Amino acid sequence: AEKIRIGIVGYGNLGRGVEISVSKNPDMELVGIFTRRAPEALSAYFDDTAVFAMNDLDQFRHEVDVLILCGGSKSDLPEQGPELAARFNTVDSFDTHARIPKYFETVDIPARAGKKTALISAGWDPGMFSINRLYGEALLPDGETYTFWGRGLSQGHSDAIRRIPGVAGGVQYTLPSETAIAQVRSGSRPELSTREKHVRECFVVLADGADAEKIRRTIVSMPHYFDEYDTTVNFISAEELAHDHQAMPHGGFVIRSGNTSDENAQVIEYRLALESNPEFTASVLVAYARATHRINQAGQYGAVTVLDVAPGLLSIKTPEQLRAELL
Ligand code: NAP
Repeated sequence: AEKIRIGIVGYGNLGRGVEISVSKNPDMELVGIFTRRAPEALSAYFDDTAVFAMNDLDQFRHEVDVLILCGGSKSDLPEQGPELAARFNTVDSFDTHARIPKYFETVDIPARAGKKTALISAGWDPGMFSINRLYGEALLPDGETYTFWGRGLSQGHSDAIRRIPGVAGGVQYTLPSETAIAQVRSGSRPELSTREKHVRECFVVLADGADAEKIRRTIVSMPHYFDEYDTTVNFISAEELAHDHQAMPHGGFVIRSGNTSDENAQVIEYRLALESNPEFTASVLVAYARATHRINQAGQYGAVTVLDVAPGLLSIKTPEQLRAELL
């Protein structure tokens, strides 16, 4: 069979993850990376990966089956998503939850007009977590859904720490509260506040002469970021920060706790423990690129989300194989 031809738009953490992930999927091949920067300035993960300028993308209209959009949700995707969906099948990881309905509309119209399929907001949250929230609600209508995040590096909170005068460097991890998870797993359907569900852990490098206790208090009382949580602050050396805190771990749990009768509680749990958030997200996008290609070939145009895609479409295996091997 002919391979599915993938193009990567934007080469940051996610773009690099997609480049690697495509190499693990034997039914796919990478046409190249398309970047807004000077192509010769990028060094791709694999030596033989082609890098092109964004402006040359139209020359590849008949050589790319699906473009995987790896730009940021804040300003890249709102612009690139609708524009590219008019001319290519696309997959993206747009993750500003509150804006997803609006983003869907802006991508749907050009994609329909161009007879293209645009899969938006794939990844893990939104993405795999969304699917598991749906399964939980549908299977246990009398119940509660709980999402916990972590242990994970939070970019926004790390930036907030680094802006404090006297802080030379630092990172912040969000952790699910073990007590809260245990309560949820018990099937008791607890009501949990923000403070009860997650705790925050900071690793901070002090600037010369900085007052550690003063900085600790500034962090734990910071409005919006830390004041609603139990926060611990650990002071470490610049060497430790460089050595132990460069990875981008993340993950979490979606738990549905419900009752099928007054007598019987049922608990469903989906867990992700990720050493690299962008590499995992990229792997999800690549599987959805396969599904998007198939959906487009079946003549379904416009925007779709992970909630619209049948699971079998993600698999490299045929429906016959899936029935024999996984059912
Ligand atoms: P990123 O590394 O900041 O890259 C975003 C874009 O910035 C790239 O496409 C690239 O475009 C440009 N860029 C990257 N490195 C650059 C550099 N050194 N100098 C100048 N420009 C650079 O972002 P990311 O970590 O890949 O994440 C992308 C998005 O993924 C996030 O905004 C988030 O919305 C989404 N995400 C979603 C999920 C989910 O579960 N749904 C999970 C994780 C992330 P050009 O090559 O065109 O310059």
